[in-house]
Amino acid sequence: MDSRRAKQIAANLVAVRERVERACDAAGRDPADVTIIAVTKTRPACDVRILAELGVTDVGENRDQEAAPKAAECGDLDLTWHFVGQLQTNKARSVARYADVVHSVDRERLARALGARARSEGRRLSCLVQVDLDPGASAGVIGPRGGADPRDVMAVAEAIDAEEGLVLGGVMAVAPLGADPDAAFARLSEVASTLRDRYPHATAISAGMSGDLEAAIARGATHLRVGTALLGDRGTIVG
Ligand SMILES: *Cc1c(COP(=O)(O)O)cnc(C)c1O
Repeated sequence: MDSRRAKQIAANLVAVRERVERACDAAGRDPADVTIIAVTKTRPACDVRILAELGVTDVGENRDQEAAPKAAECGDLDLTWHFVGQLQTNKARSVARYADVVHSVDRERLARALGARARSEGRRLSCLVQVDLDPGASAGVIGPRGGADPRDVMAVAEAIDAEEGLVLGGVMAVAPLGADPDAAFARLSEVASTLRDRYPHATAISAGMSGDLEAAIARGATHLRVGTALLGDRGTIVG
């Protein structure tokens, strides 16, 4: 293991944990109720090993092509793998093999595909409904939308709940670019609350990244997805 890299990641982890503690203090929340997921996309498996040695239990990836071999390489580590990226239905089989939590379920068809694959793999996946917090902006966009329109969240949740291989865990969102994260996460918190009225066990709110984790904690996030602040700038590599 590269000890310089390990020291750097250790220092970053201390800094992120301090930010989380301060934000929890300010919000009157217990830091134990907030899980830091280290987003290791574009980073090699040795970084995952370093994180595991430092006590990180949760890692996140956003591309199946990268995540599948990395998860296999780290199969000896006792980690919870979170899939946080756009997911094509034809990747459901692969993701169902290694992911423990899928944050990006945004359509009923994807829920059905994940459910079928989880069952055939003999696994249970926790699934979050990804919410599009700025549906107007993506209305004309062709291709994956990156989240369900808030009006469609309940239908996606029902589709997850109906699958034997899936457990409805809660909601996830990315704050829209250029938007006020506090307003965005406040909207997410409302969606989460509506979902909990119907499914009381679906308590997860996955929100907040390196740049906006304080705003997410203030609005009730239970899971933060932190890449850059832990592992450094991804540079020109497209995440
Ligand atoms: C890359 C990524 C993150 C981490 O972002 P940072 O700004 O590097 O902390 C969080 N969520 C998703 C969905 C991502 O793709």
